[in-house]
Amino acid sequence: MDILKQYMTPGTRICAAFIDNVAEQTLIAHGYPENTSRTELAAAESLAACLCIQLKEADSSVSVSLKYPEQGHSYSAIAERDGRVRACMEEYTAGIITEGVILEITQRLAVRGDYTGIVTAPNVEAAVTEYYTSSRQIEAYCAFKKFKEGYCCVICEKLPVTRPEDEWRRADAENVTESIKEACEDSYDACVDALDKLQLISQTKLTYGCTCTKRGLTRALALMDAQALAQSADDDGCMEIVCKYCGRKYRIGLSEIL
Ligand SMILES: [Zn+2]
Repeated sequence: MDILKQYMTPGTRICAAFIDNVAEQTLIAHGYPENTSRTELAAAESLAACLCIQLKEADSSVSVSLKYPEQGHSYSAIAERDGRVRACMEEYTAGIITEGVILEITQRLAVRGDYTGIVTAPNVEAAVTEYYTSSRQIEAYCAFKKFKEGYCCVICEKLPVTRPEDEWRRADAENVTESIKEACEDSYDACVDALDKLQLISQTKLTYGCTCTKRGLTRALALMDAQALAQSADDDGCMEIVCKYCGRKYRIGLSEIL
């Protein structure tokens, strides 16, 4: 089951992404070897899906990049509001930070352009918590779990309490977060059961899908140096461009660009 669900309680806003086939389809779409880590791909994809719904300011999509310096790999995913997610794996050379995970989140904002936040932490869960604290001044709890039924990413945001008469909402947030935490440590079913007790706000089916188009790629190429473009074209004056996120191949002629 690949689904994104959003819940609300008086003191929290919760989203949970369940990923199963999408991680598998990512591997197949790119032709990655069988032993490629689905866990990291699923982590990037489920996280992008959750953040896409949690970050209200995001216009259409959110991209998440998880860089593992020790592993020498980075996993990037983009999620759209309609539930489409895509991801890719790339080589990553460690810089100043040599261990743990580097989490990079980019929100696509219609009015102000892109906004990127970067945090580092020992693991994905700690990185997400840190991101919410530093970039959003919101206390959040994140769990990313691998179960035999699939992967699950849950983010509980504690809603800010400003009025004294709303103090009780804090206790609600503590209780809800605690019950989700326990359930996530337990099992997939416990996790689903705990979430089912909350008020469901929305649910979106997650699918593996890209938004790349030949027109979009042609436009991006037009911004590149004309000489460099000419050099990379073949004898027919064409270039083969592979979308890094979905692996789709495009053949674009120089005449279409210049
Ligand atoms: Zn694509």
